[in-house]
Amino acid sequence: MTAAIGIKGHCAHCDITFELKPWQLNAIAIEEPFDCPYCHRILQLCCTRQLRQFRALDHWALVRLSMVVFTCVALIVALVAEWLGLISVIGQLNISLLVLLVHFLVARYARHRQRMTLDLQVVRPVNALPIEQLARIACARFSQQ
Ligand SMILES: [Zn+2]
Repeated sequence: MTAAIGIKGHCAHCDITFELKPWQLNAIAIEEPFDCPYCHRILQLCCTRQLRQFRALDHWALVRLSMVVFTCVALIVALVAEWLGLISVIGQLNISLLVLLVHFLVARYARHRQRMTLDLQVVRPVNALPIEQLARIACARFSQQ
């Protein structure tokens, strides 16, 4: 899943935000619970709104891909049109700049939509928490501040 870069998860129990790994994203996609890397509670994405947003990420990856194709084709067409004398050099330059501008705006918007933090809820509590795990949580919290 190439679209998954930059997605973070927030553990509701230990209050730590961490970068989600591909296997964790897969687990979320199939609504399978997984361990928090810090407090080892079993987490799951319960919010249906966020789940819907998460599912829409593939769609945004497709948008970005088709924008790359569209931009390349448009630039080549403008170049060929200029060679054939259909448009002037200035016209070709204007079209190319406009196409690039649209490309970057769409890419920026798609990236913005892809950057999200998922609120992960504890679904099954673990009974005892070993002291070294508590220390790890404390360290991670400290380094985030
Ligand atoms: Zn946690």
